[in-house]
Amino acid sequence: MDTLYLQGIGVSEGVRIAPAFIHRRKEAGGAPAPAELPGGPEAIRAELSRLGEAKRRCALQLEELAAKAAETLGEDQAGIVTGQRRLLDDPAFYPKMEAWVQEKRVPAEQAVAGIVEQVAGVFEAMSSDYMKERAADIRDIGGRLLNALAAKEDRGLSAITERVILVADDLAPSDTIQLDPERVVGLITRAGGATSHTAILARSLGIAAVVGAGSAIDGIADGDLIAVDGAAGRCIVRPSEAEAEQSRLRMEEGERERAALARYAARPAVTADGTRVELAANIGTAAEAKAAAAQGAGGVGLFRTEFLFMNAPAMPGEEEQFRAYREAAAAMDGRPVIIRTMDIGGDKALPYLDLPREDNPFLGYRAIRIGLGRQDLLKVQLRAVLRASAFGNVKVMFPMISGLQEWREAKGVLEETKEELRRSGAAFDERIEAGIMVEVPSAAVMAGAFAREVDFFSIGTNDLVQYTLAVDRMNDKVAYLYDYFHPAVLQLIRQVIEASHRAGKWTGMCGGMAGDPLAAPLLLGLGLDEWSMEAGRLGVIKKELSALDREACRSLADSVLTLDTPHAVRQAIEEFRRAIGHSL
Ligand code: PEP
Ligand code: MG
Repeated sequence: MDTLYLQGIGVSEGVRIAPAFIHRRKEAGGAPAPAELPGGPEAIRAELSRLGEAKRRCALQLEELAAKAAETLGEDQAGIVTGQRRLLDDPAFYPKMEAWVQEKRVPAEQAVAGIVEQVAGVFEAMSSDYMKERAADIRDIGGRLLNALAAKEDRGLSAITERVILVADDLAPSDTIQLDPERVVGLITRAGGATSHTAILARSLGIAAVVGAGSAIDGIADGDLIAVDGAAGRCIVRPSEAEAEQSRLRMEEGERERAALARYAARPAVTADGTRVELAANIGTAAEAKAAAAQGAGGVGLFRTEFLFMNAPAMPGEEEQFRAYREAAAAMDGRPVIIRTMDIGGDKALPYLDLPREDNPFLGYRAIRIGLGRQDLLKVQLRAVLRASAFGNVKVMFPMISGLQEWREAKGVLEETKEELRRSGAAFDERIEAGIMVEVPSAAVMAGAFAREVDFFSIGTNDLVQYTLAVDRMNDKVAYLYDYFHPAVLQLIRQVIEASHRAGKWTGMCGGMAGDPLAAPLLLGLGLDEWSMEAGRLGVIKKELSALDREACRSLADSVLTLDTPHAVRQAIEEFRRAIGHSL
């Protein structure tokens, strides 16, 4: 048969080559043919008891899976399965299935399929990709309930004994969590997106993954040799001898590189001239703090607390937030944990806040604007952050500050909250540092004035680039213009760092630029004090820093800041890196 080339979304990098293993799974989608239960309360009672038994079995399976995941992957990833387990007890889920059986007199299978589709549909209709992809988690539970009703054992994927590339329509998180990365070295799915839990899990397991490959996967047969490139999103099915050999070589090279980077991640970040650099991790859940510490993070430079809100069916209260922040602080064991107040709005919707649709959500009611508009919510969050500060080195940061007035108001709410806690006798760190994200150009331009009042800055390049260059960070059509090496962005970054230093303050960076090795010589030369990135990037950046000399980087920064195009900037840095034998 001919060679087949597939293109999907590369979500977990690495090149792997192995035979295909095709996996088909019973999904909850598509309601069974309508049928009515025979008359009389007996039939209903029997059906409810079948449904109850299925729920019990399903809960047991999920608990076992969560325990296994906690052991092998850590609490954070196990959280995906515990979240599913919690959903089983959600009043808007299982009790509704019971109600269908009772009121519509339908068999349990139909009630399960109907409610699963209803709930999954609600998530699919949301505008955020992240929320949309939660529908897969819900269908996964539906599939389990249906299997349990059919008294079928879940075939599971843990039984795979050979090295394979798994090919599936879509993989539920509970499928993915069972994968043994020694055996399942790559995976390809027909559906799915970059923020699906399957993608997140594949990355933590180190499985090369391509999702969203579409109907082309129908051209793959069990046992076909497949080469997967999880960075480029490309797969070669039935490759030629030469293509197979090339993939094998890339796979071996990748394995050597990964081993080397893991060794770097475990060491402190030190430049060639012996300067210690503060490297921290960006996290979205408290459990990630533990994983980040294990991957060599010297702290948390950005806790995106909005994920705490987005993953919940209703606003988490003070206690729940306090526990999450305290857990992160404890995991970092005295190292700094910067907690950013919720950055809702833009692409991050919060269904229960009922925010109106906006034409320009990134320029609209977002982040601190919501915080100041809903001070009741901000106060609850600040109380939780302040109380957690008694348990570690916690700092608080406000997102999307565009002017001094906003900062002063936010700081005012913080001070009021402190006063309330003092009155109630609750413990907190009286000297807690408070800073701002610099992600709106006006804040960068006014850095000198801000620096007199804030304790620190953290530059959010993801937004700073989109607002400075007027380029939507989510729009593929204009992605070619989105570049943090644009001289205008670099001027702003320099201005912020210098303003903070003049006032005796410090500047961090938590946008994607901090995790880019090409940017490292420039940022070091500009005097950036703290770098925060996805924990998986720490090894690469530590390796990069180990080859850099601070003085040489200062000269590089001086000359780069005179250049007038992103292209010229990249070229200058690449040349510098080649000269020290560190090209990409
Ligand atoms: C940023 O804008 O760079 C940032 C870190 O914040 P977020 O990506 O959460 O908007
Ligand atoms: Mg931002």
